[in-house]
Amino acid sequence: MRGYLILLSDGVRIPALTAARQCLVSTGLSGHRSFAAILYQKSQVCIFGIIGAMKIKDVLAGGSPSVSFEVFPPRKDAPFEPVKEAVMRLAQEHPSFMSVTYGAAGGAQANTVGIASFVQKCGVPALAHLTCVSATDESIAAEAASLHAAGIENVLCLRGDMPKDAATPSPGRFAHAVDLVRALKGRGFCLGGACYPECHPECEHMEDDIAHLREKVDAGLDFVTTQMFFDNNIFYRYLSKLRDRGVTVPVIAGVMPVTNGRQIARICRLSGTYLPSRFKAIVDRFGDDPKAMLDAGVAYALEQIVDLFANGINSVHIYTMNKPEVAGRIMANLRGILARPSRKMV
Ligand code: FAD
Repeated sequence: MRGYLILLSDGVRIPALTAARQCLVSTGLSGHRSFAAILYQKSQVCIFGIIGAMKIKDVLAGGSPSVSFEVFPPRKDAPFEPVKEAVMRLAQEHPSFMSVTYGAAGGAQANTVGIASFVQKCGVPALAHLTCVSATDESIAAEAASLHAAGIENVLCLRGDMPKDAATPSPGRFAHAVDLVRALKGRGFCLGGACYPECHPECEHMEDDIAHLREKVDAGLDFVTTQMFFDNNIFYRYLSKLRDRGVTVPVIAGVMPVTNGRQIARICRLSGTYLPSRFKAIVDRFGDDPKAMLDAGVAYALEQIVDLFANGINSVHIYTMNKPEVAGRIMANLRGILARPSRKMV
C-alpha cells in the first residue's frame, strides 16, 4: 500500500474525493485537535491527515530534533496575501512549529492571531507571541479569549519593549513577562518565554537576569526561546548556568540567518549581541551585495545549527523573517540530521 501524507485542517478539501467522502473527512476531523488520523482508504491509497493544533511542549518531548520558524504578520492596513504566501511556502519545509510575532518588525499586533490561525490551517502548530507591558487582567483575558477562539494552543509570553517615553507601568498594570505567565497559567495554553544568553540589555548582571527567568519558569513556562546569538560558545555557557540555577525546561536556541549585513550590525550594537570577528568579516566583505550576503548568511547560520545539533541541542528556532528561500536553503542541508533520533534531551 502506498501512503500519502497530506497536511490538513478543518475545512480543507481534498479535490480527489467525492462530496460524500469529503463529508467523511470532515466528520473525521471535526473536534480532533490531536496529531494524525487515517482518513480515507481506497484500493492502493491511504491518506493521512494532520491538523495543526498541538502543544509545543509535546513537540519538544517527542525525542526528535526540532526546527521551528518565525514569521511576522502584515503591518496595519497591509494585505494578508503576501504573508500567507510566505507562510504556505515555509510550511512546505515541515517546521516543528511556526511562531508569529506580536508588534515586532512592524507587524500589526491585531494581525498576529489571524496569521497564527492560518499557520495551523497549513498543518503546522502555531506559537502566538503576546506582549503585556501596561496590560490589565481584563485586556489579557480578552486576548486569551481570541486565541482560544482561533484554536491557538501556544503563547510566547513577553513583556515587549518599554515605550520610550513611559515610566514604570502604573500599579494594576503588567510590568514584566512574569505577570503575563501568571495571568495565562491555568487557561489551557502551553506557555513559552524569552531568554537572553548575553543578558537582557536592561539588566546589569546576568545572575539577576537568570533569577528573573527562573521566576517566569516557576510561574508556569513550559519552554524558553533564546534571543539570537552568533557565537555558540556563549549559548553553551549560558545553558550550563541555567541548568545550575535550576531552570530545567527545554531551551530552544534562536538562530538568525543574516541577509542584511548593515542592519544586523546596528541591531547588535543596540542589543549588545556579540559579533565574532569571523562574522564581522562576512558583513564587511559581502554586506553591500544582497546575493553574496544571502549565501554567506545562510552558510553561517547552517554552521551554527549543525554545531548545536552535534552538541546535543535538540531544538533550534530560526528567525526566518517571512523568507521561505532562506528557510528552504537551510532545511535542504539538514534533512539527514533531522532524520536522526536526538542524542539526548537538552
Ligand atoms: P521580561 O522577562 O519581563 O524581562 C525584561 C527585563 O526585566 C529583563 O531585564 C529582566 O531581567 C527584568 N525583570 C524581569 N522580571 C523582573 C522583576 N520581577 N523585577 C525586576 N526586573 C525584572 N518583542 C515584541 O514586541 N514582539 C515580539 O513578538 C517579540 N518576540 C520576541 C521573541 C523572542 C524569542 C525574544 C528573545 C524577544 C522577543 N521580543 C519581542 C522582544 C522582547 O519583548 C524584549 O526583549 C523585551 O525588552 C523583554 O521582554 P521579556 O519578555 O524578556 O521581558
